[in-house]
Amino acid sequence: MSERVYIGLGSNLDHPERQLSEALQALAALPATRLLQQSHFYASKPQGPQDQPDFMNAVCLLETDLSAHALLQALQQIEQSQGRVKKRHWGERCIDLDILLYGDQSIQTPELTVPHKEMATRDFVLLPLAEISPGRVIPGMGRVETLIAQLEQTFVVPWVASNSNHTA
Ligand code: AMP
Repeated sequence: MSERVYIGLGSNLDHPERQLSEALQALAALPATRLLQQSHFYASKPQGPQDQPDFMNAVCLLETDLSAHALLQALQQIEQSQGRVKKRHWGERCIDLDILLYGDQSIQTPELTVPHKEMATRDFVLLPLAEISPGRVIPGMGRVETLIAQLEQTFVVPWVASNSNHTA
């Protein structure tokens, strides 16, 4: 059975705009998967150490027959093929791909927590998610606009670029 799945993308190394575009192409090419929608690209401040470049973030919507765990493996393969080198916790990275929502399912396994456990407090996830899915209720967390209103501050601005457009 296919599920609608939201993926968070982030990059702050080695041409972030290109990294996000490549990852979106790779996601669209996954077996039994369609890329239905993508947000604009957003620029955001790093969460952890501040002595690193700003991030570029986006959220996309997939429809997939892959199981959540098969999808996680596929995301990790895309990260590796784009030369992701994780240097430190919350540090710089070529590409980071997270499963935000997998249908309405709640998943708790050693490898996977869905909804993504930090998404309710991450401006760089909530703003692009609200763009492509206004009114979305995140199971156990609430409505995306309510979560945005609860943020103390946001450090996210839309990135104006030629290839950060919607596909559907
Ligand atoms: P990070 O790359 O720092 O975001 O963390 C990657 C690790 O988080 C992987 O080892 C995954 O098994 C784990 N993980 C847990 N939940 C998720 C999720 N919803 N999406 C992606 N990775 C997840």
